[in-house]
Amino acid sequence: MSKPGRNDLCYCGSGLKYKKCHMQEDQAVEKERSLNERAGNFIRRDLLKFARDERFAEEFAQTLAIYWDGYYDPSNAEQMSQPEALRFFDWFLFDHELPNGKRLIEIYAEERMEELSTAQQKIAADWVHVGAGSLYELTAYEGQLLQLRDYFTGEESEVYEAGGRGNVELGELIITRLVPVSDRIELSTTAAYLPAAEITDVKDKIEAAKAAYLAEHPDASHTDFMRKHSHLLVHHALLEAKNQGRPPVTRLDANRPDTKTQKIARGMARFKR
Ligand SMILES: [Zn+2]
Repeated sequence: MSKPGRNDLCYCGSGLKYKKCHMQEDQAVEKERSLNERAGNFIRRDLLKFARDERFAEEFAQTLAIYWDGYYDPSNAEQMSQPEALRFFDWFLFDHELPNGKRLIEIYAEERMEELSTAQQKIAADWVHVGAGSLYELTAYEGQLLQLRDYFTGEESEVYEAGGRGNVELGELIITRLVPVSDRIELSTTAAYLPAAEITDVKDKIEAAKAAYLAEHPDASHTDFMRKHSHLLVHHALLEAKNQGRPPVTRLDANRPDTKTQKIARGMARFKR
């Protein structure tokens, strides 16, 4: 969508020049949006830094193999690609519960809030309450706007993704988490991609795990269940990749090692079994 020039007629049909009509209003919206976009990206970076802090290193070491179904553990953590590391830390921050019953995102909000700007505070506060990682079907797209349908609940969301749909075709699935940034919904971090041929029995697997979980926790919500089991989606993707004879997890991954993760992984030596 191209913007009219200052002296062009406004798009609203008022007959006025753009500068005398909607220009100021549009500029204010754009300014607010770019402020929030920057705040969202700052929070993403700051959360990652927080999760990689030395104080969570032991938890990192103990949970890495759970998330990766043994594919990565402290002994080979430094081989994670950057997107793999981003997805692991996204789970570690938002879904994983620490032994004290808290999630990292909650601790982050408690400890860091005062140092954040107003726009950043709003995002951090919202993100404490976002849903668990899930699986989403791409049902439509137009440029950077994706229509995603939760594969388990059927809930529809219009999502803004700067990179658009990437290689994902209609009907294919992505493993991701949706987060609000101001008036838009975005992906929390780089998504993993489940191509059509690799969807196979993922729904059955998740439904079986949910039935087992609900038998023990009859009052649990779907979100409660997904928080505890979103890593099963990664296990599925890993198994499918293995069956296809290619490395995990997604063909969208650039084969770029993640230097910050390598650093923390090297510091993990003392936790090796
Ligand atoms: Zn106008």
